[in-house]
Amino acid sequence: MKKKILLLYTGGTIGMIKNQKSGALEPFPFRDIYAHLPMLKLLDAEIIFKELLPLIDSSDTNPDFWIRLAKEIHQHYHEMNGFVILHGTDTMAYTAAALSFLLENLSKPVILTGSQLPLGVMRTDGRENILNSIEIAADYHNDKPRVPEVCIYFENALYRGNRTYKDNAEQFHAFTSSNYPKLAEIGIYVKYNDNYINKPEQQPLILHTEMDDNIAIMKLYPGMTSNLVSSIFSTPGLRAVIMESFGAGNAPTNESFLALLKNYIDQGGIVVNVTQCKGGGGVELGKYENSFHLANIGVTSGADMTTEACVAKLMYLLGQGLNNEEVKKWLQIPLRGEMTV
Ligand code: ASP
Repeated sequence: MKKKILLLYTGGTIGMIKNQKSGALEPFPFRDIYAHLPMLKLLDAEIIFKELLPLIDSSDTNPDFWIRLAKEIHQHYHEMNGFVILHGTDTMAYTAAALSFLLENLSKPVILTGSQLPLGVMRTDGRENILNSIEIAADYHNDKPRVPEVCIYFENALYRGNRTYKDNAEQFHAFTSSNYPKLAEIGIYVKYNDNYINKPEQQPLILHTEMDDNIAIMKLYPGMTSNLVSSIFSTPGLRAVIMESFGAGNAPTNESFLALLKNYIDQGGIVVNVTQCKGGGGVELGKYENSFHLANIGVTSGADMTTEACVAKLMYLLGQGLNNEEVKKWLQIPLRGEMTV
């Protein structure tokens, strides 16, 4: 029996063509995909196509879009063996992280992919990315999917989605997962890294449909003024701030900065500390004196979470109607393999 794969097209470079007048890239209708990818018909999987209209450049994604996507997967969950989502690369890591939180107890593959060059271009990377994603999504062993989690497939590698970030706007190798090994490497064979792939217990899928976007990202830099910090914390309705700190979680120790942080936390705000270092490692509060102060005033460690995963996790947790202490607790506990503690 062929595995049934729902191929959801949301937009992005992969399906773009040049606008005749402006010369800018814009999405083309998905019904043309067979013209660009006739070998789709040869795959050993039954592919069901669906466009999520309007097609978008992924810079336009937002929590409503993530929830809509999660609902689509939930709606077709029982009929399908796996899901492949064609998505722009720019915010693919955010969408992957968001889906991982919105789809609790997921036990089927949800693979996001896209491309750096449109499918209509001769040297496109989209062809390999789509075909391999479908093949992996349809790969079952002893009636169980090989990768029952939200992943990103790109340039011969499969990653845990909520561990990735886009780190290249030009090379085909667009994604990296610095703090978690690849789930599979694709050459002549697909080599699964089984020890690192989620092994879910068979429990019913739970769809979450609430996210709270009252958060901010505050990237620290030398010379950042107190005025700026203060205006971020004074944003009406702001419930949490992701502080992108230096190195292993360090921040300035000047009194006005620490007072602003403390005041915001004392008044019920949440500050999560993640590192600006993309290449590996995470926050270790107290390792240096500069971060010791942060722990004392109630800053929460985001450990080795990416900023992308932290955005999604915070919006998800804040949307669950939890109180601050619960949100802070869950922030520090891996919920979908998004952090190492
Ligand atoms: N701007 C495009 C997008 O993210 C880029 C891409 O697809 O690679 O939708």
